[in-house]
Amino acid sequence: MTVDIGLAGPLLAGILGLLIGSFLNVVIHRLPKMMERRWAAECAELSGQTPSEAGKPFNLVTPCSHCPSCHAPIRWYQNVPVLSWLALRARCAECGTGIGWRYPAIELLTGALFVFCFDRHGMSLSTLAWWGFAAALLALAAIDWDTTLLPDDITLPLLWAGLIAAALQWTTVPLTDALWGAVAGYLSLWSIYWLFKLVTGKEGMGYGDFKLLAALGAWFGWQALVPMVLMASVIGAVVGIGMKLFDNLREGGYVPFGPFLAGAGFAALIFGPSAILDVVGL
Ligand SMILES: [Zn+2]
Repeated sequence: MTVDIGLAGPLLAGILGLLIGSFLNVVIHRLPKMMERRWAAECAELSGQTPSEAGKPFNLVTPCSHCPSCHAPIRWYQNVPVLSWLALRARCAECGTGIGWRYPAIELLTGALFVFCFDRHGMSLSTLAWWGFAAALLALAAIDWDTTLLPDDITLPLLWAGLIAAALQWTTVPLTDALWGAVAGYLSLWSIYWLFKLVTGKEGMGYGDFKLLAALGAWFGWQALVPMVLMASVIGAVVGIGMKLFDNLREGGYVPFGPFLAGAGFAALIFGPSAILDVVGL
């Protein structure tokens, strides 16, 4: 009996992707809360009070996974990506509270992206780099959609990683193009932000968006910036108008730009930046 290595590779990549996706769900859920706690602690320190939740550790590993509704701990066999969600029929085993479809969706999406990157780059450091890129981008998109925050804890490492990957030739982008991509990515949105603010007095986006586009510029080179921003703007506007029509806008009527930038990043990863221009019609 021979083992078909040809199939084992993508299979392992997919399983690893599912597991990383499961971890991303934790990051998406907890990182914004960790940031809020940090801000609360800093505010309390400045005003000379003791923060109310001080002493209770809260990070990506502590406390253990539990149901957000009844706080029952989630056992390892209830934490198997996708399968547990199906076996539990999308409900908590203890209290029956529904578990959102987004958990398995993030896991499946990560798994699919990992298989895709492995298929393209094989057993190489390039695959490892693009796995990291895809995981970070997915987490950013979900966190921004939920909270309109793009944590520096993810955007800045993603930016540096893009430059380092270019320097080590793990990506095919020349280092100079990656560097100018990062610079132009940041400055372009920064300029639009200030222009918009001067004209309308409103803030159209946040500093996290500048850093995310800088990171995308580092990963794909400056040439990819215009196609990605165009795609993100067009799709963002369509979704924004759609949400307005269906009265689905959240408080303040704000649609975060980050998920659409991330979407353009995924399109650039899968189809290549120049293919986006063809779709946008340029
Ligand atoms: Zn529960």
